[in-house]
Amino acid sequence: MNRKVFIRTTGRIFFLGGLAAATGYLVAGGKVDATCSKSAACQKCRKYTDCELPLALETRQNEKE
Ligand code: SF4
Repeated sequence: MNRKVFIRTTGRIFFLGGLAAATGYLVAGGKVDATCSKSAACQKCRKYTDCELPLALETRQNEKE
């Protein structure tokens, strides 16, 4: 393994380790709700309140329950 490959591999390992640590922190700390029943796409869509597509209808129905 030459120096260039070593630096690249080490960088990838640190990046993936940091990504895994950040994901674990967010999930374990309750900062991410993985059980959301609403469609994330619809919540951020500007057409949501007037949209008649099945996904929007289902999401609005779930909000009422
Ligand atoms: S279903 Fe309607 S509200 Fe939901 S993302 Fe598509 S266009 Fe937007």
